[in-house]
Amino acid sequence: MKLKIELTKHPKEKPSDETKLGFGHIFTDHMFVMDWEESLGWHDAKIVPFAPIEMSPAATCLHYGQEVFEGMKAYRTEDGEIRLFRPEENFKRMNISHDRICIPQFDEAFLLEALKKLVEIDADWVPHTYGTSLYIRPFTIGTEESLGAHSSTKYKFMIIMSPSGAYYAGGLAPVKIYVETKYVRATPGGMGFAKTGGNYAASLKAQDVAAEEGYSQVLWLDGVHRKYVEEVGAMNVFFVIGDEVVTPSLDGSILSGITRKSAIEIMRSWGLKVTERELDIQELVDAYKSGNLREAFGTGTAAVISPIGELKYGDLVMQINKNEIGEISQKLYDELTGIQWGKRDDTFGWIVKVK
Ligand SMILES: *Cc1c(COP(=O)(O)O)cnc(C)c1O
Repeated sequence: MKLKIELTKHPKEKPSDETKLGFGHIFTDHMFVMDWEESLGWHDAKIVPFAPIEMSPAATCLHYGQEVFEGMKAYRTEDGEIRLFRPEENFKRMNISHDRICIPQFDEAFLLEALKKLVEIDADWVPHTYGTSLYIRPFTIGTEESLGAHSSTKYKFMIIMSPSGAYYAGGLAPVKIYVETKYVRATPGGMGFAKTGGNYAASLKAQDVAAEEGYSQVLWLDGVHRKYVEEVGAMNVFFVIGDEVVTPSLDGSILSGITRKSAIEIMRSWGLKVTERELDIQELVDAYKSGNLREAFGTGTAAVISPIGELKYGDLVMQINKNEIGEISQKLYDELTGIQWGKRDDTFGWIVKVK
């Protein structure tokens, strides 16, 4: 497939104050678009000026939630190199999400080349300050004009990009997490492993309730027994219990995070015992009470590592590691961000250079 490129004639002014970027409000000059229909497959791939898209109010995505997305970042090193972190993993996962939501597969190698081109064109939008990045949002929507409840016969795949601020403006800090016992995010056989907007719609209510109580995110338990730990909001979760680092195994209702996968590989390379297994919330409570729950942290592209300082389960409020950043959390954060921003060697070969 050929990639057409139409550059903007009206470049926007770039944000001058990188401390005020926030997240997801500012968009670069260009975007990637590609369409699908039965007779043509994926076609008309192009990079065009960022602009609103026209769509029928009857487009399937607006009614039945046929949508899939990804989240990744472009980083600028001190000497001006622009790079991506394991982007092929994002496109691989996106095709897995596509399959679950009945959206046709795409050519991952082509998309990676298109993304590199898009980032290269908008390279000046990658912010300069350590910790800031260019957030990249690939997504696909069903666009057929039809109110019939079936999978769409037309799709649009797009990539938009947004310069975003440092997640921890004041340095790495522990968060408070609320263990959700009423609402459920995903169930076996559902679509918890897919990165799709519907999973987020399902999670907003619990998120609001937790926020009212002063907690930043919820920890989900499994939808059947309501006792096995799954994940946190938009992050996977790890617990250091004694000498073992435990993270819930990928059981179909958990998103397979790329930061999770990378954290596991790094910790194993350090010789730590990392186990992917079922984790009963009661085991955490017991470990806490016996003083064996040493650390807890979330992993995700946005925060990289998010130390958990407090965990509330029913009436029990557990302070973990005295609400301070744990040793492994800090070390992992330094290693991962070091690789991403080019301060440490990319010994695993995870970096893809754009320019
Ligand atoms: C995106 C996401 C994650 C984290 O995945 P990364 O690839 O590490 O960014 C975890 N859980 C959910 C529900 C997510 O959507």
